[in-house]
Amino acid sequence: MGKILGIIGGGQLGMMITEAAQKIPEHIYKVIVLDPTENCPASQVGAEQIIADYKDKNAIIELAKKSDIITYEIESGDSEVLKSVEKNTEINPSPETLKIIQDKFLQKSFLLQNNLPVPEFIKIETILDLEQGLKKFGYPALLKARRDAYDGRGNFKINSSEQIQNALDYFDKQNLMLEKFIPFKMEVSVIGARNTKGQIKIYPVVENIHEDNILRETIAPARVSEKVAKRTEEIAKTTMGVLKGAGVFGIEMFVTQNDEIIINEIAPRVHNSGHHTLQSSDTSQFEQHLKAILGLDLGSTDLKHPTIMYNILGPKNFEGEYKPIDLLAENCFLKMYGKKITKPLRKLGHFNLVGKEGETTEQLLKKLETLKDKVTVNSI
Ligand code: ATP
Ligand code: MG
Repeated sequence: MGKILGIIGGGQLGMMITEAAQKIPEHIYKVIVLDPTENCPASQVGAEQIIADYKDKNAIIELAKKSDIITYEIESGDSEVLKSVEKNTEINPSPETLKIIQDKFLQKSFLLQNNLPVPEFIKIETILDLEQGLKKFGYPALLKARRDAYDGRGNFKINSSEQIQNALDYFDKQNLMLEKFIPFKMEVSVIGARNTKGQIKIYPVVENIHEDNILRETIAPARVSEKVAKRTEEIAKTTMGVLKGAGVFGIEMFVTQNDEIIINEIAPRVHNSGHHTLQSSDTSQFEQHLKAILGLDLGSTDLKHPTIMYNILGPKNFEGEYKPIDLLAENCFLKMYGKKITKPLRKLGHFNLVGKEGETTEQLLKKLETLKDKVTVNSI
């Protein structure tokens, strides 16, 4: 008899987890999501929805009562409330793991204690802390909100002492940390999975290209030397080992000018840079996540074909309904998330461009250029 899966968050990640669950009805026969937006992406593909804020205590309790197992697609869930329902409902990754990861300062302290490479950082509570930190790290440096940041919105880059007050004003009573700026030559990430029995598997390292702090493209595999690839994958494996939580995790890293690897941050959930696995691997990250939390043997993480994932983002200059997007091209797999309204830089969908036998990444990148215009978002 299958289980009922509860997911905190029903956006595109929850949607793709729901679709993966529908392929294994013998293990999961129903999905319920908790999401504040009526008709959220996951509900459009058949998940039942509880409409409430992610942090609504009563809604989390209701979700726990209705579910056999809970997971999340966002890291901002209330770990204390989750802990309180854990006695009756299994939660993966555990609220304990979530608690460490959802606070960037606790997360980096934890990684440092485990001898994993992170940028230098300090906790900021007063302007004096900030002035001293900047003296130590130099300019530029990044002032970051410790919690609930996404798409770079919780970061302020301080370029000179004149910006100190502006930087503090940018944040409204949030807990903060300061981080040394890493002049990286590439951003990469590794998707790792750990099942409830402790089995660990990782996907090959991929390259991430950001625009306006938002992921725009993921190139799988990353264009790095074998040595760099191996090192990132080792770091990811060690990280998965010390974190202990079950599920899929996205581990973002910087490659420095001299090929040093530094962890930027970890997401305790399926990750945008893992969407390529829907076509490039036998086991997508969404299927893998379910295997991990259900305690099933993890699937293959081999990359079968080089693949590029391209995010379809809302244009910066308009908000509202948009014309349907259609893209027909060879070896190109479009996935729209069913969001009726576009907002500036909102993630509306993505496509994966999969390489044919013998096709190189450079050839794929050229093909991508011809496809980008076809997914422009236009008002109705
Ligand atoms: P996401 O974009 O993954 O939702 P986020 O809003 O939590 O994440 P971060 O991942 O901390 O933000 O930072 C966003 C981007 O800012 C990074 O992908 C990277 O390009 C840049 N960045 C963050 N920290 C540093 C650093 N210490 N040095 C240089 N660049 C950084
Ligand atoms: Mg990030």
